[in-house]
Amino acid sequence: MPFGSSAAERTRIVAGFQRALADHGMVVPMATTNLFSQPIFKDGAFTANDPRVRAFALAKTLWAIDLGVELGARIYVFWGGREGTEADACRDPRTAIGRMRDALDFLCEYVRDRKYDLRFALEAKPNEPRGDIYMPTTGHMLHFISTLAHPQMVGVNPEVAHETMSGLSMAHAVAQAMEANKLFHIDLNAQRIGRYDQDFRFGSEDLRQAFLLVRLLEGTAGGARYEGPLHFDSHAYRTEDDEGVWDFARGSMRTYKILKERAQAFDADPRVRALIAERRDARLESLARGYAPHKAQALKGEVFDAAAIAREGLGYERLDQWMVEHMLGVH
Ligand code: MN
Ligand code: CA
Repeated sequence: MPFGSSAAERTRIVAGFQRALADHGMVVPMATTNLFSQPIFKDGAFTANDPRVRAFALAKTLWAIDLGVELGARIYVFWGGREGTEADACRDPRTAIGRMRDALDFLCEYVRDRKYDLRFALEAKPNEPRGDIYMPTTGHMLHFISTLAHPQMVGVNPEVAHETMSGLSMAHAVAQAMEANKLFHIDLNAQRIGRYDQDFRFGSEDLRQAFLLVRLLEGTAGGARYEGPLHFDSHAYRTEDDEGVWDFARGSMRTYKILKERAQAFDADPRVRALIAERRDARLESLARGYAPHKAQALKGEVFDAAAIAREGLGYERLDQWMVEHMLGVH
C-alpha cells in the first residue's frame, strides 16, 4: 500500500468513516483521487513523460477506487490538475491525449473486472495550476469520451468556475452534456471571467448564468431534469470564522432553491410561454428533416422572402427583461 497507512490502520479508518456515515444517515455519492498536490505529479499524472509517474498515478487511483467503492461511491471524478504544460515542447499534445486514454481505458477495465457499480466523470479546466491543461473544456471532454473503449462508463463533471474561466457559458456546456446523457456529476460554485479559480459560494457571481443553469438542471422549461447529485465545490471567503462557513454552506443551498422557485415561476408565466412557443411550419419542417433527394430538390426550388423574415422583431428584449424581473422577485 503506497500511501502511508498500514492495512490495519486502513481498516480502522474505513470502519470509523462508515460508522460516521451511518450515524448521520449520509451516503458518499462521489470519490476522487488527488493527482495534483504531490510533487511527483509536477509534470502530470497520467500524461507525465516518466512512465514511473504514470504507473504511480494509476496505482494510487486503483487504491482510491477500492476505497471509494467500499464507502459506497457510485461516481468517481477525475480532475487532472497537473495534466498540462508550461514548456509545451516537452511532449506532443497528441501523446498526452493518448496516455490519458490508455489510463481511462485501463481503469474502466478494472472497474468491470471487479464488478464495481461505478461510473467516471471527467472535470475540465483551462489552466491553473498549469499554464495550459489538456482538454480544457467540457466540450473537449465530451469528444474525448467518445474515443474511449467503454464510453458508456464515462461522463463529465462540469464546474461553474472552470467553464467560466474559459469565458464560456456554463449552461451551454451542461446542456450539451445532458443532451448526450453525459452529465454524471456537477460542481456548483461561482466565478468571474478572467480571474483565478475563485470557487465562490454558488450564485454569488453571475446570477443570470446561475439562474439559467438551475432552470436547465431542474427542467422547468420542459426538458428532462438532471437526477444526479448536486455538489458544491467551493470555499467560504477567508474572512470567515466557523459560523461564517455555515453561512456559506447554507447560502449555497438557499440560493439554489430560490433560483429553482424563480425559474419555475418564469417558465409558468403565460407571457414567457407565449413568447418562446416554437413557431411551426409543418411543410417546411418536414422538408428540412431527414434527407431525401426530392426534399433537397424542393428546398432548392423554394422561394423565401428573406428580407421580410429578417424584419420581424423577436421580442427577446422583453423576454430577457421578464427573466431579470423574475430573478429579482418582482413577479
Ligand atoms: Mn474550481
Ligand atoms: Ca471541481
